[in-house]
Amino acid sequence: MTTTPATPAYDPDNIFAKILREEIPSFRVYEDDETLCFMDIMPRADGHCLVIPKTPCRNVLDATPEQLAAVMRTVQKVSRAAMVAFGAGGVSLQQFNEAVGGQEVFHLHVHVLPRHAGTPMRAPGKMGDMDAIKGHAEQLRAALETL
Ligand code: AMP
Repeated sequence: MTTTPATPAYDPDNIFAKILREEIPSFRVYEDDETLCFMDIMPRADGHCLVIPKTPCRNVLDATPEQLAAVMRTVQKVSRAAMVAFGAGGVSLQQFNEAVGGQEVFHLHVHVLPRHAGTPMRAPGKMGDMDAIKGHAEQLRAALETL
């Protein structure tokens, strides 16, 4: 039988759980029964957004196959919308697991980063312009309606 090392327990007070409960604000882009997509407030590219499951799990290490499948379905949908919304030439996906793996918020999420030729990703950890982020959310929502 395959075993995996134990991961720490899910913390229901992590910031993305609070976004799901609408205890703190976010720029929502898309949701279905199982997932939510909202904008990253420290965008490393214009249109940088995050896809999360609505049910609790820390990351890939404790997620169920169903949670992973639901998240990736939405990642594909939002990635296709990002190509249209921003005239992107490609999309980078990022996903980190546990602090040693680069994870800072411990609710499973996949970063969706629209990319343009010759434009490097910006450095992490810098707060974005909220009006610009709001506009990018609107562009993504409009593109999603066309797909
Ligand atoms: P990581 O856990 O390393 O994949 O990164 C967490 C991501 O969450 C970073 O890109 C942050 O900019 C982003 N982030 C942190 N707080 C918020 C928030 N309140 N709303 C949207 N994005 C956030």
